Amino acid sequence: MSATVIDGKALAQEVRAEWKGRAERLKKAGMQPGLAVIIVGSNPASSIYVRNKARASREIGIYSEIHEFGENSSQEEVIQRIRELNGNPAIHGILVQLPLPPHFESTRVIESIAIEKDADGFHLYNVGALVAGNTVFPPCTPYGVMKMLEKYAIKVEGQHAVVVGRSNIVGKPMALMLLQKGATITICTSRTRELAEHTARADILVVAVGKPHMITANMVKPGATVIDVGINRLPDGRLAGDVDFESVKERAGYITPVPGGVGPMTITMLLCNTIEAAERQQAVRTQL
Ligand code: NDP
Repeated sequence: MSATVIDGKALAQEVRAEWKGRAERLKKAGMQPGLAVIIVGSNPASSIYVRNKARASREIGIYSEIHEFGENSSQEEVIQRIRELNGNPAIHGILVQLPLPPHFESTRVIESIAIEKDADGFHLYNVGALVAGNTVFPPCTPYGVMKMLEKYAIKVEGQHAVVVGRSNIVGKPMALMLLQKGATITICTSRTRELAEHTARADILVVAVGKPHMITANMVKPGATVIDVGINRLPDGRLAGDVDFESVKERAGYITPVPGGVGPMTITMLLCNTIEAAERQQAVRTQL
């Protein structure tokens, strides 16, 4: 039997519709949510992501600014701009598009974002809060995956979740969020021996590696939920995930496509975090 395909595009529209009203209420109260996106250098993929984020922001009623810096800009220059944005009352969320050029220390740049404006959830304070099970701003990609599981009523508690990949932006926070919801977690990396033995035990399999079609049907438990975070550009220009969709969909219970799966949810959760940040900042101002 073929798996249910999780429609990330439709779900993203549904979540955006839910949050649009919150953005409108804030605007009526005199506080339009504002997002500043910082991009350094001319990575073509990053430029597309940044433009998409700005467009999606406008559509939901978030004011957005893009701050572009040349490849040879200094770290201090970028940090100085972040400090200004930290103090700007029209901006409630700030994100730095990664990766930064090699002469940047990403952690130092992210650390300069005010905690309450860290819409990507990458500041060490927010990472620590996530570890402590007290999430402030959940990182957008795993947040989007959790929203997908919730919307499709896929049980997490007591399930065995296997996360392939341990990056700070996807794999690690994903594992922590699934753990928080009561799953038993296995994290696999490039050093894992017998990867297929682990993946084949997963009730929920999340793959965030960056290798096209690496997860094949024989690596998946029948009926499992398979979430494909990977985005890979094939030589013919098409996009592909880390999961071999055609074969795995005949074995899984639920599966996400690429494109149209996790990607649209990631941007959506960034918008949600920005609106949430504005709501919190409004609540603080009301108390003053
Ligand atoms: P990273 O390159 O930072 O991390 C990749 C991870 O995969 C590493 O932890 C690495 O292990 C692990 N890995 C590599 N090879 C293997 C292997 N053979 N078996 C098991 N694990 C392996 O990537 P990201 O986490 O940033 O992104 C992963 C993918 O997700 C990319 O395709 C990216 O484009 C996509 N992505 C999609 C998003 C979306 O919105 N849909 C958002 C963000 C990313 P080790 O640590 O040992 O090297």
